[in-house]
Amino acid sequence: MSNSTKKKIILASQKFVEVGFNIGSEGNISVRKRGEILITPSGINALDMKESDISVIDLNGNSKNNIKPSSEVKIHLAIYNNKKTAGAIVHCHSHWASVLSCLRKKIPAFHYMVAELGGTEIKCAEYATFGTKQLAENVVRSLRDTKGCLISNHGQICFGQDLSEAIHLSYAIEKLSKQYYFCFISRKTKLLDNEEIKKVLNKFKSYKAKH
Ligand code: 13P
Ligand code: ZN
Repeated sequence: MSNSTKKKIILASQKFVEVGFNIGSEGNISVRKRGEILITPSGINALDMKESDISVIDLNGNSKNNIKPSSEVKIHLAIYNNKKTAGAIVHCHSHWASVLSCLRKKIPAFHYMVAELGGTEIKCAEYATFGTKQLAENVVRSLRDTKGCLISNHGQICFGQDLSEAIHLSYAIEKLSKQYYFCFISRKTKLLDNEEIKKVLNKFKSYKAKH
């Protein structure tokens, strides 16, 4: 696996700190290539992270370079093993996604861009302690129809076919979370009906955004 992939993972981790989606060692990122997974290490501040800190594992979680992977490695493995199209995963504690996740609120079809994640709503995975198999199961269940979800009392996670798509969707979830929070507290939001959001989902199949 190339060093440039490791570099991209580090730059993305640092960007997430710069934009305030994470602080310190919050969040984690991985990329799948040729049956191997490169994943950020556990407990290392993104701003101090070096290419030699990136952990390499196989799809069963066996280490290939003896570097301890993120504590959320079970979620990353569960997603890669359940979603053939997943080429990268981004998990972060961005503000608005975290706020909604603490309210344990899903994001309904309040804005047509909810469909960009691939479903009619963005679910909020049931709470479980970070780093557990239970949390991995809860997240995978919430990703049944979408490429991203909130995680109760924690933050958000999404996957894409590559790192740039996963990063883009993470920004998309954060934007939708902020918008929905204000709509929710206003109690005046007009949701799109099921027929309309399904129509939008269909349109997205032929609408290719560049990230
Ligand atoms: P890691 O540093 O182990 O990746 O943990 C950060 C995190 O966000 C746990 O949910
Ligand atoms: Zn986390």
